[in-house]
Amino acid sequence: MPDSLTTNSPIIAAYRAATPGSAAAAEKAARLFPSGVTHDSRYLEPYGLYITRAKGPRKWDVDGNCYVDYFGGHGALLLGHCHPKVVAAVEQQVERGTHFGASHELEIAWAEWVMKLIPSAERVRFTSSGTEATMMALRLARAFTGKSKIIRFKHHFHGWHDHMTSGYASHFDGSPTPGVLPGVTTGLVLAEQNDAVGLARLLDDDDDIAAAILEPTGAHGAQLPIDPAFLVELRELTRQHGVLLIFDEVVTGFRVSPGGAQVEYGIRPDLTTLAKILAGGLPGGAITGRKDILDLLDFQVTKAADREKISHQGTFNANPLSAAAGVAALEIVGTTDACARANRYAETLRRRINEVFEEERVPWAVEGSSGRGLFRQTPSRARAQIPAGDDDPWRRFQRQPRRHNLGHAWRSRTRGHDDRPPQSHPHAETGARDLGPAVRAHGCCRVEVCDHLDLDQEVRAGR
Ligand code: PMP
Repeated sequence: MPDSLTTNSPIIAAYRAATPGSAAAAEKAARLFPSGVTHDSRYLEPYGLYITRAKGPRKWDVDGNCYVDYFGGHGALLLGHCHPKVVAAVEQQVERGTHFGASHELEIAWAEWVMKLIPSAERVRFTSSGTEATMMALRLARAFTGKSKIIRFKHHFHGWHDHMTSGYASHFDGSPTPGVLPGVTTGLVLAEQNDAVGLARLLDDDDDIAAAILEPTGAHGAQLPIDPAFLVELRELTRQHGVLLIFDEVVTGFRVSPGGAQVEYGIRPDLTTLAKILAGGLPGGAITGRKDILDLLDFQVTKAADREKISHQGTFNANPLSAAAGVAALEIVGTTDACARANRYAETLRRRINEVFEEERVPWAVEGSSGRGLFRQTPSRARAQIPAGDDDPWRRFQRQPRRHNLGHAWRSRTRGHDDRPPQSHPHAETGARDLGPAVRAHGCCRVEVCDHLDLDQEVRAGR
C-alpha cells in the first residue's frame, strides 16, 4: 500500500525514517495486489514491514531492523522460526521430492501424531488450510445428520469461506457479506457464546440443526474468553438434540495443551478442525473426529452402506514437505513441555506488559490465555456487550492500537536487544517493552517457545 497517511505523529515519523526499504516495496506491491497485501491481517498504515529473514523469535526487515516476532506466523510457529529439527526434516524431504501425487509414509506418521495427541481423533483427513478443514466439517455434519443448519457463535472466526463470513467482524444480523448467496446464510444460526439458556432455546425451537461450531477457548483464540461451564452445557445440549459439536482447534490445537482445548476442558467434540501448528510452519490443515462421521469420505464404507460418498480432492493435501514439518513439530509438542512453557511465558509477558502500561500510565490492559494476548483499552468491556453491527466499535478499537503501536515497534528496536545481557527466554524477559510488532500486527500476540537458540547473542554478534 503506498504511504498516504497524513499525521504529525512522531511515532509514525520515526517508523518511516527507519523503514525506507519497506516503503519502497510497499509502493511496488500497490501496483500488484489489492491494498498491496496478500492477507487482510497484514494491512497496515502507513505501510507494513517487508521481512527478509526470521530465526527463533526474531524477524529482520529489508532495512536490517530486528524485531521480536509476537505474531508467530499467524500462530503457526509455536516453536519459533526455523526450529532446527523442523528445518532438518524439511531439508531432508525437499531432496526426496516435494509432491508425489501419491500416498507416502510421512502422511501416516503425521496422522499417527494427530491421533496420539487429540483424544477425539478416530480418523484424519488432511487439507491445505484451516479454511478448507472447517468447510469440510460443515459438509460432513450436514451429510451425517441429514440436517441443514449450522450454529455459529458471534465473533468466532473459522476461515473465509462462504459460511463463515457473516457474524465474525460484521453482518451480525446474519445477512450475507458481498458475494455470498443469501441461501448460504439462511443455513446459519448466529448464537452468543456463554449463553446456555439462549442456546437451549435455539435448539428447542429448531430441529434442523446439523452442528454447532466454535473456537473452544472463545472468540479469536480466547480474546473473548469462553466460560468452561458453557462448554459443558454446549456438549450436553448438542448431545441431547442430536447436533454434532465441532471444535475449531486451528489456533488452540497443539497450543493450549498438546491435545488442544479438548484436553484442557475435558470435552470430547464430534469433529475437530486443525491447521497452523499442525504443519510445523508450512501450509496444512486437517479434519478429524468420529470414525462414523469421517466414514462419509470412505469409498468402501459408503458403498457398503449404500450412501453417497462425500468427494474430497485437494492437490496439496498431506503434501510431503508439510508432513515432514508437521511430524517434527508434533513430536516436539508431544514429547516435551513446549505448550506448558509457552503458556507460562505468555502469563509472564501479560503480567509484565500490564506493569509497563501502569508505569507509563497508558490506559490499556492485556488480557488473554494460553499463549495469546489481547490489548484492550481499560476499563475492559467484554466484547459480547458491545452492540453488534456493521460499524462494530470493537473493530474500530482494534484498528486503533495498530497505528499507535508502530511506535513501540520502533522504540523496541532503538532501545534494542543488542546491549542487553542474554536472557533465559527472549519473550518472557525482554518482551514487555518489545510489543510493537504484535500490536502492530493484530492488537494481539501469541507467545511461542523459541529458546532453542541464543538469539540475544546472535543479535549482539550482528547476525
Ligand atoms: N479457524 C480459526 C480459529 C482460525 O484462527 C483460522 C485462521 N486464523 C482459520 C480457521 C482459518 O485457517 P487458515 O488461515 O489456515 O485457512
